[in-house]
Amino acid sequence: MLLELINYLLILTVLNVLIPTFFARLLHYNVLWKGKAEGRYVVLTFDDGPDPIYTEKVLDILDKYNVKACFFMVGEKVLKYPDVAKQVVKRGHEIGIHAFRHNLRFIINPLVTRKELLKAFDAVKRVTGVSPEYARPPWGCLNPFFYRESRRLNYKVVLWSFMSWDWGRTTADYITKRVLSRVKDGSILIFHDSGDSPGAYNGAPAMMIEALEVIIKQLKNEGYSIKPLGEVC
Ligand SMILES: [Zn+2]
Repeated sequence: MLLELINYLLILTVLNVLIPTFFARLLHYNVLWKGKAEGRYVVLTFDDGPDPIYTEKVLDILDKYNVKACFFMVGEKVLKYPDVAKQVVKRGHEIGIHAFRHNLRFIINPLVTRKELLKAFDAVKRVTGVSPEYARPPWGCLNPFFYRESRRLNYKVVLWSFMSWDWGRTTADYITKRVLSRVKDGSILIFHDSGDSPGAYNGAPAMMIEALEVIIKQLKNEGYSIKPLGEVC
């Protein structure tokens, strides 16, 4: 009996995440996965920071090419590295919510979803003074509550046009080729400025940073502009 109940709960939990994630990821139901505006441009987004080692390095490259990006931050890291989060805002970038803690509980358990979204919002607001308008759940996995609470909290749910696979054991060359071969007008590009989230490789952001400069230069050569999220959605 107990085993049956556990099985039942497990199936419900999986469906609770799998069905909305399928709608979001494959059918793009109620999520932004590419820019809505017409034109030859891309949007740069960075997940999993702020990070004490890598975020500033990303900011330096963005400053060098005078481009703005959106950083989807982890609330507990915003509290841990407030100066890094402040730098992102000071240097003119947008902030979105990624999670308060980057773990499965946030997505698997619908009851903690609203609490986590609110905690992440409060952390960003308290530290940077910014009220985030965008949310991107960890691993792009959603449950129905994430949709509902995001609407209540006035977040736009933002995913990405294609995965750059910059978070595993990879090379700058691989990331560069992957992104440049798939990019299209209006693509929302995703990168990770921290390597300490579950499943990620610690040294991966160093590869991403090396690739990022090449990618920005090449995109500009190919006539793309790089626009902030707020201008295209
Ligand atoms: Zn993440």
